[in-house]
Amino acid sequence: MSIFIKNVLLNDKRCNIKIESNRFVKIDSNLNINFESNPSTHTIDGSNFAILPAFYNMHTHSAMSLMRGYADDLELHTWLENHIWPLEQNLNEEIVYRGAQLAILEMIKSGTIFFNDMYFFPHGTARAADELGVRADIAPVLIDGMDDSKTEELIAYAKDTISHSSEYSNRIRFAVSPHAIYTVSANTLKRAAELALNEGLPFQIHVSETETEVANSLKDFGLRPVQYLDSLGILTPNVSLIHCVHIDDKDREILYDRGVNIVHCPVSNMKLTSGRFDYRNIHKKGIHLTLGTDGACSNNNLSMLDEMKFAALRAKSDSGDPTVAPAQEIFNIATKNGAVAAGLDAGVIEKGKLADCMLVNLDHPSLVPTGHLISDMVYSASPECIDTVICDGKILMQDRQVTGEKEIIRKANEAYRDLIKK
Ligand SMILES: [Zn+2]
Repeated sequence: MSIFIKNVLLNDKRCNIKIESNRFVKIDSNLNINFESNPSTHTIDGSNFAILPAFYNMHTHSAMSLMRGYADDLELHTWLENHIWPLEQNLNEEIVYRGAQLAILEMIKSGTIFFNDMYFFPHGTARAADELGVRADIAPVLIDGMDDSKTEELIAYAKDTISHSSEYSNRIRFAVSPHAIYTVSANTLKRAAELALNEGLPFQIHVSETETEVANSLKDFGLRPVQYLDSLGILTPNVSLIHCVHIDDKDREILYDRGVNIVHCPVSNMKLTSGRFDYRNIHKKGIHLTLGTDGACSNNNLSMLDEMKFAALRAKSDSGDPTVAPAQEIFNIATKNGAVAAGLDAGVIEKGKLADCMLVNLDHPSLVPTGHLISDMVYSASPECIDTVICDGKILMQDRQVTGEKEIIRKANEAYRDLIKK
């Protein structure tokens, strides 16, 4: 099927856009050219819309949407050990599937078409992402409790998961994600990194999230977390380090040299008071930077609009400099930087690129008066201004309607009751 978007605003100019198969094939500012080539072309009147790249959420635990609001206002380790980890004992693939559906529904409705997921029962998440039409890198979370006698069992589990990739569309990819340096032994970290490199897959890990983590790393390994990972030979360009709140000059030097991607999750960091992410120096160093929402349990939504606003405000507030993190820079980090980190030929609206985009309603109050679209998207937009979302050349939402929405919400509430066993 092809899609013809007529008279839509792109970079302040009206144009006609044609999507064929899964790519933008024509973009023309001559509005007299009609791209409605055959009766199967789906035409969208873009008169009230601007077209923008969609969002790439580089870190989440999607099924945790079922735990939204479940254990708020707690310290990270109390939160994990006393609340989240015990509840996770009740998970099964069906609960994860329902939680991931809820998360993906929320992501589509706020303009996100890709997410990088680290969680249990990855087939539940993969099935939900495949059915709802988004792209995803999905990794089973690897935790050995610092016991390297479990390494081979965990690596076999990761390999087995990856071996099922062909059962899903090519929008879905399995990845490798050990949880953190304080829950995974050096041996498992090394073997997991080798597996990711050999299979050409992304590798993600939470790093330097809290001061406690850094202090324990210095005590246990004699090195700061980033330097410890580097000493294990793990930092290669397929690696994304999540958080990196507590990193010093030497850490930044290493991350830049190794071509590693940082996933900044400002809302999660603020909610758990993890510390101050040094946006200004990380950006100045030229380290590849992307944004993630983290799970709904520590956020509590999955809107990249909120994430952009908090990233910008936090960077300004922490540096005492309102010129830091300007809107266009933050918007690029949430869109094309994510696509680059995910290895996708996407993230910008250009002829030949993969057709991932959203149409925003220029009559929505949060975008009025028109004329400062990127600034409005970062500072004032609400998800309701996003009318249409397209991923891989397919419409996932139009007129803010997603197929099967009511059923997803009903089943998510049922799955929540199963999870808390009530
Ligand atoms: Zn996380």
